[in-house]
Amino acid sequence: MSIVDTPERRQLRELTRAFVTREVLPHLDDWERAGEVPRALHATAAKLGLLGIGFPESVGGSGGDLLDSIIVTEEVIRSGGSSGLIAALFTHGIALPHMVAAAGVGVGGSLGGRLGGTSTPDDDLIQRYVRPTLAGTMIGALAITEPDGGSDVAGIRTTARRDGDHYVVNGSKTYITSGHRADFVTTAVCTDFPGSGSLTLLVIDRDSPGFTVGRRLEKLGWHCSDTAELSFADVRVPVANRIGAEDTGFLAIMQNFAAERLSLATQAYATAQRCVELAVRWCRERETFGRPLASRQLVRHRLAEMHTRAEAARAYVHEVAVRVAAGEPVVTEVAMAKNVAVAACDQVVDQALQLHGGFGYMRDAEVERHYRDARILGIGGGATEIMNEIIAKGMGL
Ligand SMILES: Cc1cc2nc3c(=O)[nH]c(=O)nc-3n(C[C@H](O)[C@H](O)[C@H](O)COP(=O)(O)OP(=O)(O)OC[C@H]3O[C@@H](n4cnc5c(N)ncnc54)[C@H](O)[C@@H]3O)c2cc1C
Repeated sequence: MSIVDTPERRQLRELTRAFVTREVLPHLDDWERAGEVPRALHATAAKLGLLGIGFPESVGGSGGDLLDSIIVTEEVIRSGGSSGLIAALFTHGIALPHMVAAAGVGVGGSLGGRLGGTSTPDDDLIQRYVRPTLAGTMIGALAITEPDGGSDVAGIRTTARRDGDHYVVNGSKTYITSGHRADFVTTAVCTDFPGSGSLTLLVIDRDSPGFTVGRRLEKLGWHCSDTAELSFADVRVPVANRIGAEDTGFLAIMQNFAAERLSLATQAYATAQRCVELAVRWCRERETFGRPLASRQLVRHRLAEMHTRAEAARAYVHEVAVRVAAGEPVVTEVAMAKNVAVAACDQVVDQALQLHGGFGYMRDAEVERHYRDARILGIGGGATEIMNEIIAKGMGL
């Protein structure tokens, strides 16, 4: 029995599938048009324990590890959900882990220990932000990327000047997932001079004076996931809202990249798997020149290759995830897993749309949504080129 196919994980799959079928599929098209998912969905997912998967019970989570989070992500997409839905509903997967780690608790087996914080403020952050978010009553976002660049995390320019018991924050962020709906934003700032050495994470409340949420950004895909520009003009943030010690932000961001990249890799292979299923169904039903598409050897071989690519990517991502969950230092392998899964996804989604013909280009076709949604997976969480840099470094180049 595979480690991702235990009786408990099969149950988790069934729970996720039932949630998607009942709570998501009847509404997803409306949410795509509205540009966001409703708050009530967070509460429903929380009640079922899905929002808290991968977070320890001691901080309000449902327990489980990185592999359980992967199962949920995979099943949401394979049940007819989408990577856009994952981005919108599970944004806390990138907004909260730094707070949990700073309080000395590992998330999904992937994070290290305390980031030099003292227990009081960080435990306070657990009470004020982590618990309500995992209960589905608050929404959080993570803001690292700035208008001047996202790949170079050390190059961020948003500043936080200490003034007594507060920091005074100035700067702007862009492309922030759930930024429109977020009640708080885990924000990367420089407390001293620009550079990785002075990066610090602050939790900034949406209603802080001087904090402006700009226009809702229109995008190629991920339509049900709201994306925002944020700006900070002399925003006073209590020192108690700092995550861990000053200057530990870069390490905290890097530590959580493994989980984020594996989530994106999972979204990629799961999207590929879903598109294979859609294409097989379509090719069995669609007739051209008097017989079903699937009766032609060329089409069957194309489907066989798509299936092989998706399954190979899934196997590799799972292998790397098991090693991450075991605490192995596999930064290079995580980068390879993301690139392998994204490449498989890009190819499979393109082929799946092609096999659907004109219908594949229509909004009514599910494959059309996956085609648009998939394009971000090789950009977000560290673009393909950045993954290649990490891999080359791992090779000693
Ligand atoms: C829909 C969406 C949601 C997002 N959500 C969030 C979020 O919630 N929070 C957040 O902080 N950010 C978010 N992002 C931002 C995302 O992480 C960045 O877009 C990504 O990191 C790339 O940064 P950039 O866009 O500034 O590209 P740049 O850094 O300007 O890079 C541009 C291109 O150049 C390539 N490149 C860069 N450096 C090198 C190099 N050294 N060698 C070779 N090629 C290179 C890159 O791979 C990329 O293809 C989101 C983006 C999108 C589109």
